[in-house]
Amino acid sequence: MRIIVLGAGTIIPTRERFGSSILLETSLGGILLDIGPGTIEKLKRIGYDLETINRILITHFHIDHVSDLLPFLKMRGLSRKSYGRFKEPLDIYGPRGLNDFIEDLLLKNRFLSYLMNLDVLRDIRLHECWDGVVAADERLEIRSVPVEHFNGVAYRIRVDGIDLVYSGDTVPDERLIRLAEDVDVLIHECSYPSGRKLGKHTSDEELIEIVSRIRPRITVAVHLYPEMEGRVQSLRESLRRASGGLVYIPSDLDVIEV
Ligand SMILES: [Zn+2]
Ligand SMILES: [Zn+2]
Repeated sequence: MRIIVLGAGTIIPTRERFGSSILLETSLGGILLDIGPGTIEKLKRIGYDLETINRILITHFHIDHVSDLLPFLKMRGLSRKSYGRFKEPLDIYGPRGLNDFIEDLLLKNRFLSYLMNLDVLRDIRLHECWDGVVAADERLEIRSVPVEHFNGVAYRIRVDGIDLVYSGDTVPDERLIRLAEDVDVLIHECSYPSGRKLGKHTSDEELIEIVSRIRPRITVAVHLYPEMEGRVQSLRESLRRASGGLVYIPSDLDVIEV
């Protein structure tokens, strides 16, 4: 599996990081974890075939995690109509409320309902996730737990023999720590330096504590606010000591081979 970090930041852009989106390149095609601002543009910039993306997992409905969803749906719908492309269905996973979120955006919003003229939901399958297994067969398992962040969920994905947990946004949460037992890859948010934390997020000191308990083979710290930019080196060292494994604090477009 290859992990391509499309957006390692937040809604406050820095030179290195913006938005939230991670691409998993798997034998089943591309799986997007969140689809924040710039996702489509970055995928095109790395030459990725958008048509191979057949699953999108949304952790919560904050704009830095979902803002490219409507452009993605329109891009598919119009490409299908004009060029006969995007014939495969798209599975979208998200926390409870996903159906209402899509309905409010596309059906109830009179300024955006024109998108339905392109039949953008025709081959879309929506899966509301909360606490439990949401997809399971021999090739792919997706499990979610709610986390403490505005109706958010964290996901555990098993594909190509790799177990990966993605926190989305959250405070340190025991449900996530249980979900991540024996995981290969932990992708966890690390929003602020300790003592400067705002909102329902995780600080650097808190993430160090979390990885010391989970001890994943690979730790990937994302969702860094600008306050974190000067601390990347020291955080990497601390996380390495605490986890005993490999540590990445990626910039946008960094690639991690698993
Ligand atoms: Zn959020
Ligand atoms: Zn966020």
